[in-house]
Amino acid sequence: MSTKIDGKALSAALRAEIAQSVSAMRAEHGIAPGLAVILVGDNPASVSYVTAKERACAEVGMLSREIRMPADATEEELLAEVRRLNADQEIDGILVQLPLPRHIGEKAVIDAISPDKDVDGFTPVNVGRMMIGEECFLPCTPHGIVKLIEFAGVEIAGKHAVVIGRSNIVGKPVAALLARRECNATVTLCHTGTPDIAQFTRQADIVVVAAGRPGTLRGDMLKPGAVVIDVGVNRIPDATRERGFRLAGDADWESCSAVAGAITPVPGGVGPMTITMLLWNTLQACKARAKRAASQS
Ligand code: NAP
Repeated sequence: MSTKIDGKALSAALRAEIAQSVSAMRAEHGIAPGLAVILVGDNPASVSYVTAKERACAEVGMLSREIRMPADATEEELLAEVRRLNADQEIDGILVQLPLPRHIGEKAVIDAISPDKDVDGFTPVNVGRMMIGEECFLPCTPHGIVKLIEFAGVEIAGKHAVVIGRSNIVGKPVAALLARRECNATVTLCHTGTPDIAQFTRQADIVVVAAGRPGTLRGDMLKPGAVVIDVGVNRIPDATRERGFRLAGDADWESCSAVAGAITPVPGGVGPMTITMLLWNTLQACKARAKRAASQS
């Protein structure tokens, strides 16, 4: 039976550290990190993500500002809001909650965020910096995944990591991070064009599965003792639950946990880490602001 990698526990420990740093920033510099979240429309899932981010900010003593725009807001109106926040001295991080309504171009909006306030790590400048190993805001879910592997006590360097999924927000950046010199893993990236994924996962010391399909990874696809990071969040209809569904990851829990050395649960694994790394990035942005202010005075 494998060890459960407790994302809630790691997240709580990191948030306590962040809260301490925030109170030190207030005491030493008289400023607090500020995160602005723009929400266009009222998609229920987006509303609940935004609420969770605001609550997390409050818990660590950060300022959060929610900017709500109607679903029929124009791209130009949204871009104007982003530019206003780029210039706002109290705001260290800007997050535009995705997905956006169809009539708004996601790329144009992301591109408009100042790379210095891009705490999601989604702008081309930060993605490029990550790829060439420069200091940057690392994308939150991939960064959280690396922290979870380290927390499990696994030395990443020299290991073979297989990533399933090649999205721009999870698969590709996590593969890039694991291959960076700091992690130093050998990385294989699988996707729907990979004919036999099991031939790769069976050789893997670390498997990150981010396909958005329950059952993508099964125990018979794993090498005994492998570390499994399950990023997937899938709603499985379940009449026995009050809300009518339960959450499941992309890894089949029963068979994978019987073979893996350590595995993240869903929920309670990767999920809590994403917002934690967002707080982390916002803190780093505020530290950079304090440094700039000190060098100008
Ligand atoms: P996505 O944009 O839909 O990308 C899924 C990727 O998986 C695609 O590259 C796709 O390949 C690949 N894929 C799908 N089915 C596959 C299969 N059967 N075999 C191999 N590859 C397969 O999804 P995403 O945004 O990366 O998210 C992935 C999952 O993680 C979702 O369940 C999402 O809800 C979850 N998630 C969780 C968090 C968190 O904080 N916990 C954060 C982000 C995402 P192609 O490119 O060939 O189509």
